[in-house]
Amino acid sequence: MTWETVMGLEVHVELATKSKIFCSCTTEFGGEANTHCCPICTGMPGTLPVLNEKVLEFALKAGIALNCDITRYNKFDRKNYFYPDLPKAYQISQLYFPFAKNGKVEITTKSGEKKTIGIHEIHMEEDAGKLIHSPFGDATYADYNRCGVPLIEIVSEPDFRGSDEVIAYLEQVKSTLEYLGVSDCKMQEGSMRADVNLSVRPVGSKEFGTRTEMKNINSFKAIEHAIEFETKRQIELLESGGRVVQQTRRWDDNKSKSYAMRSKENAQDYRYFPEPDIPPISVSEERLAALKAEQPELAGPKKLRYIEQFGLSDYHASIITLNKNIARIFEQTAELCGEPKEVCNWIIGNAMYLINERSMELGDVSLSPRVFAEFIKAITSGKINKSVGKTLFEVIFDSDDSFDIDKYIADNQLAVIDDDGAIYEVVQAIISANPQSVEQYKEGKTKVMAFFVGQCMRQLKGKANPDKVNKIIVEELAKQ
Ligand SMILES: [Zn+2]
Repeated sequence: MTWETVMGLEVHVELATKSKIFCSCTTEFGGEANTHCCPICTGMPGTLPVLNEKVLEFALKAGIALNCDITRYNKFDRKNYFYPDLPKAYQISQLYFPFAKNGKVEITTKSGEKKTIGIHEIHMEEDAGKLIHSPFGDATYADYNRCGVPLIEIVSEPDFRGSDEVIAYLEQVKSTLEYLGVSDCKMQEGSMRADVNLSVRPVGSKEFGTRTEMKNINSFKAIEHAIEFETKRQIELLESGGRVVQQTRRWDDNKSKSYAMRSKENAQDYRYFPEPDIPPISVSEERLAALKAEQPELAGPKKLRYIEQFGLSDYHASIITLNKNIARIFEQTAELCGEPKEVCNWIIGNAMYLINERSMELGDVSLSPRVFAEFIKAITSGKINKSVGKTLFEVIFDSDDSFDIDKYIADNQLAVIDDDGAIYEVVQAIISANPQSVEQYKEGKTKVMAFFVGQCMRQLKGKANPDKVNKIIVEELAKQ
């Protein structure tokens, strides 16, 4: 039997407000345990939560950009459960009237396939604290710094059929929220994390299979692995006559396995009831119109502009515009040096390589457009060649805005060797040191040319024009 995987995502995103959702404590990541909290975010009796106006603004911006209908009247509810990271024993969330519904995200997968993913709803809620299990065993510590950090939870429709669609969607959502400036979406720090609801069914079937939920997966790679593992586990279970049990599973990326945590709860298990301490929120037409007018240029329209204005290919433009910071570096550099395609090629070929190698967030790249533009000019003017450029690029990638590229090229003698005399000297020395290869060349084994070029370029520390070196070698060999 051929099986089809059906998935829906719940994505939690921390909003980048300075203070928490219902109190004035800082939202800053880290800090000494239990120093970023107060009686309100730890839910002490007698305290009253007050909604942070900025949280609502950021949430609405996200809802609009993700093409949702904004609910004119939204309100908060209490979700009751006991867990040691939640000192109040309830989480303030939105069940009955979430602020946004019926959104959609257009995605393009790696293979170029386009698809629309529906968003069922987005709601605001508060984050819980963190439990730290002692590496020595026998003890668990509670850190409540994260309690009350504002979150939005973006609940998709069960529209995903493969992990490539899931990744494309997450990249798109991340990109949009970064452009809006409403979240830094750093997956390593947990400011964006995804729960994957997954079931399998025979291809052609209209009914959904029983689903499991994998919680808080916080890297694209882990998500891919978790989906692959869980799909296989469910298919094997069904094919051997078993049945899938609805449950919440924990993905352990180090062991590449998922484990059953608990049977999956339904909404009624949480005994939701309206939050009595926070009044309902109404959102006016004027406010929505003003927020829409403020919306910055997002990746989609920016991509079309880059194709038009800078002549980039569709593929290159989508890579460059996906992240706000990378697009900014590209655009400023291209304007300074007037060589957009060259700038794009160095970003895609070299910067992306370094970013992947170091597992960096695209938002953390601090390459200076001024330095980068000087670098491009050194390449296009022929002052340095591409192989030297590759090494030099790593230097400028880590440098700051005060970096003097001309001085660096001069100090390290990186400029292209223009002096033909110097090249002749090296070529002649290599030829006289390798009489056997000269004989082979004369016998018609032209393959030894590569050997001569390689030796000469090495001697010249890669700083000569290879075409010129080639020409001089041919000339000199003819004299032998
Ligand atoms: Zn607080």
